[in-house]
Amino acid sequence: MFVDEARISVTGGDGGNGCASFRREKFVPKGGPDGGDGGGGGSVLLAADPELNTLLPFRYRTIFKAERGRHGEGALRTGRSGHDLEIKVPVGTLVFDAEGDALLADLAHAQDRVVVARGGRGGRGNARFATATHQAPRRADPGEPGEERVLELELKLIADVGFVGLPNAGKSTLLARVTRARPRIGPYAFTTLEPNLGIVELDEERQFVAADLPGLIEGAHQGRGLGLQFLRHVERTRALAFLIDVTSEDPARDLALLEREVSVYSATLMEKPRVVVLTKSDLLAPEARLLLDRHPPIPGAVLISAHRGDGLRELLERLWPMVMPPAEPAPERATPGE
Ligand code: GDP
Ligand code: MG
Repeated sequence: MFVDEARISVTGGDGGNGCASFRREKFVPKGGPDGGDGGGGGSVLLAADPELNTLLPFRYRTIFKAERGRHGEGALRTGRSGHDLEIKVPVGTLVFDAEGDALLADLAHAQDRVVVARGGRGGRGNARFATATHQAPRRADPGEPGEERVLELELKLIADVGFVGLPNAGKSTLLARVTRARPRIGPYAFTTLEPNLGIVELDEERQFVAADLPGLIEGAHQGRGLGLQFLRHVERTRALAFLIDVTSEDPARDLALLEREVSVYSATLMEKPRVVVLTKSDLLAPEARLLLDRHPPIPGAVLISAHRGDGLRELLERLWPMVMPPAEPAPERATPGE
């Protein structure tokens, strides 16, 4: 299993101060105390969002503070409460307190929410302190500071896209080329072969996890067992990229061979959306390239060179719609006349 991690600091909003004030009215020489309470500070929450699949956004922003409460005012006006700050995290995120390592929450389902830093309470205004014997209190409390915490977020990654191909098709090279973040390998080793994972970042909003699945074919060739965990992991991918070496004598035959092996391995895998990728285009002589354009050996395949970077953008843009997390269901609308 692979783990994506982030460390963030969260702070609830401070409470607003209570107000010390006395009523002033034209014909009332000694107005009573009328200082209002401060508003409560907003809290910081984490919410599980099915549209996210990595913790990468927390490389750009690590400090979160909810809005403070407003101070109380005269005429018994209570300060407005601060708004809560909701931070979206991927479904499956584990939340730990960085000090003490306690597990605070396991946001396993969409829309799961947890308060991670409470806002401070607002201070009491002086109107609250008036008693029969003490009618003009000057005392008002300051607001409480918001709670502050450092959190460790941890997400077990499932690959969105699996790269499959015969040995030497260029899977590892492509993975290294299109991924930057290398998640740590967690202490849950697969029984035999490890897929190799990386996070592909199309831009700040669009990320997905890609895995080079060496075991699928190579391990099968070597007669090695792959382990149930590996299979389960692979079966949860949303899409596959079939990599074929374009310099092969017969790319179409390689694809057929690959498809046969994948289907023997797992029928579920063959039902996934896929892109066929012809690799190592830089090795094609100009004439061969022209021929390829005129008579594509595999219609619809994307031609790439991981070495030169050609075609990579196109490949990732083709993959994105296949792996894009499902949009949240639209809120139900009331039907008129019901
Ligand atoms: P894998 O077995 O599918 O993981 O294949 P590798 O990524 O290890 O690549 C096999 C060989 O092909 C290596 O020697 C790579 O350097 C080479 N290779 C991979 N991609 C390219 C490419 O785009 N152009 C060229 N010229 N060689 C490549
Ligand atoms: Mg490899």
